[in-house]
Amino acid sequence: MSEKSIAKKVYLDHIATTPCHPKVVEAMQPYFREIFGNPQSDHEFGWQAKMAIEEARGKIANLIKALPQEIIFVSSGTEANNFALKGIANAFEKKGRHIIASSIEHRSVLTPLKFLEKSGYKVTYLPVDNFGLVNPDDVRNNITNETILISVMHANNEIGTIEPIAEIGKIAKEKGIIFHTDAAASAGTVPLDVAQLNVDLMSISAHKFYGPKGVGALYVKKGVKITPLIHGGVQEAGRRTGIENVPGIVGFGVAAELSDKEINKRIGYLIPLRDKLKKGILEKIDHVYYNGHPSERLPNNVNIAIEYVEGEAMLLSMMKEGIATASASTCTMMSLETSHVLQGIGVPPQIANSSLVFSIGVDNTEEDIDRVIDVLPKIIERLRAMSAIYPERQ
Ligand SMILES: *Cc1c(COP(=O)(O)O)cnc(C)c1O
Repeated sequence: MSEKSIAKKVYLDHIATTPCHPKVVEAMQPYFREIFGNPQSDHEFGWQAKMAIEEARGKIANLIKALPQEIIFVSSGTEANNFALKGIANAFEKKGRHIIASSIEHRSVLTPLKFLEKSGYKVTYLPVDNFGLVNPDDVRNNITNETILISVMHANNEIGTIEPIAEIGKIAKEKGIIFHTDAAASAGTVPLDVAQLNVDLMSISAHKFYGPKGVGALYVKKGVKITPLIHGGVQEAGRRTGIENVPGIVGFGVAAELSDKEINKRIGYLIPLRDKLKKGILEKIDHVYYNGHPSERLPNNVNIAIEYVEGEAMLLSMMKEGIATASASTCTMMSLETSHVLQGIGVPPQIANSSLVFSIGVDNTEEDIDRVIDVLPKIIERLRAMSAIYPERQ
């Protein structure tokens, strides 16, 4: 084996997904073969499964300071967002058909909004500033008598910017409008408190914070009316029916409990790594844009755009070195679509297409960051040497 293939692989794409925490895997194990009952069954097997679900619900409620009965289990952050938007749109259609959202939402918010537009709803997409922030005054100024829902993400998954949710929520509350936040990128990574944030609905996803894939939750504040997406049986008080993903929910609960307990320790570990990566890149590479907010951002996100290189070539070269990261422009994989988020903050398309999104996890080490700071400048130098547009080409 060559030395390269022995080198440790470096995973820096934790916004795409995280590995399960060992305690999560351990907790899930019995729910595949021993405690396998249908939670609706009226016998020992069922009761045990039901109890496990309710225990997990309590842990997830704790994580965002909600009540257990305000947590509805769903299959993903994507489903939580669909449920929030379509569920509120339907439940309040008699009141009005206008929705306000930011223009840098995740696709699992923007796509259902497009769907709602086709069904006769009107959506106002708010612009963001160069850091990716929504201006709360813009929210206020766009509210009409027809407005039934405001949806602004808690943290952006590409640039890491954390939005002024509490302030927007205050405006929504004053006007009596339902407020949803997509917190899939931030729940479990930064502390969240639904009351302090003034939100009525919040989407969260287990696999973003060391929980399993295929399970998420929608927080729905007590008393808020919402139409289910899925009609069927009795699970989740009829609001999300179909048999529960019991092992997944158990793992989700443990991941939430661990995050809740360790969140400050994790943040204290991630921020120095994030700042070291940013500093190293900015010092060693020229013609680099650092995207997102300087301080109001996720503790694990570094987004850079590098001029005079091609995004895809950069990713491939990194992959060859055993470093897994993401490029905003390849997020969709099927097409090289320029990131709507980078466009939203005013990054020119040709530069946006050569962006890299690093998202650090608790298993990363300082050596991992050193590897990137060592390898990336060499890759850029090589790619720029081949580029016809690099002005400093010798
Ligand atoms: C990951 C993510 C989603 C989608 O969640 P899934 O559970 O992967 O479907 C939605 N919004 C944001 C901001 C995300 O980061």
